[in-house]
Amino acid sequence: MPPTSTRDRYDHLRRYGTPLTECWGVNDPALACFLQRIQDLGIVTLADAAFTPKQARAQPRFGLTVIHPERPPLIYVILQKHSDLPELADTLFHEAIHATAGVMGRHDVLPEDQGGTAYLLEELCAVAGALEIYRRLAMPTMKAKARENRDLGERLKRALRARGCPLADIAGAVADGAAAAAHLLG
Ligand SMILES: [Zn+2]
Repeated sequence: MPPTSTRDRYDHLRRYGTPLTECWGVNDPALACFLQRIQDLGIVTLADAAFTPKQARAQPRFGLTVIHPERPPLIYVILQKHSDLPELADTLFHEAIHATAGVMGRHDVLPEDQGGTAYLLEELCAVAGALEIYRRLAMPTMKAKARENRDLGERLKRALRARGCPLADIAGAVADGAAAAAHLLG
C-alpha cells in the first residue's frame, strides 16, 4: 500500500472532525478569545467526537496539527482525552504554534520523523511558543501547565545539545516560538 500523503491525511481529518466550538462550550473568556483569534487567522480547529472516552484515553496524543501548502492549517484535538480546561488549553496553544509553521516560513509540511533533529526543533519551537502565550495571557489557572512547558523545553534543549545540534539552531527555535506566539496573539 502506498504511504498516505500529508494531503490525504489532512482531508481525512477534515472530513471526520467536528468543529471544536460545536462540541465544547468555551466559558473561559481568555481562551474563547484565543480560539476566535486563531480562527480569524484561518486556522481550522476540529475535534474528534467519535471516540468513546476509553478509546480517546488510549490515543497516544492529545492533538495534532497538519499543514499543507494547498490547505489552511488544521488543528485536530482528541477532545475526550482531556480531563480539564488547562489541559485542553495547553493542547490548543501547542498545536496553534505548529499551525503557524507555513505562514512563519518554518516548514511547508511538519517534520514527522520523531527521532529527527528537525522534529525536535519544531517541538522546542511549539513549547517555547506556548510558554510565551502563557506569559502574555497570564491566566492564573494555567501556572502548572506553563511550568510543565518550561521543563519540557529544557529537556528538548538537552536532547538537541546531546545530538550536536548547533546552539544557534536551538536559540533560533525558541525565538521562532516567541515570534509565532506574537503572530497568534496579534
Ligand atoms: Zn508538537
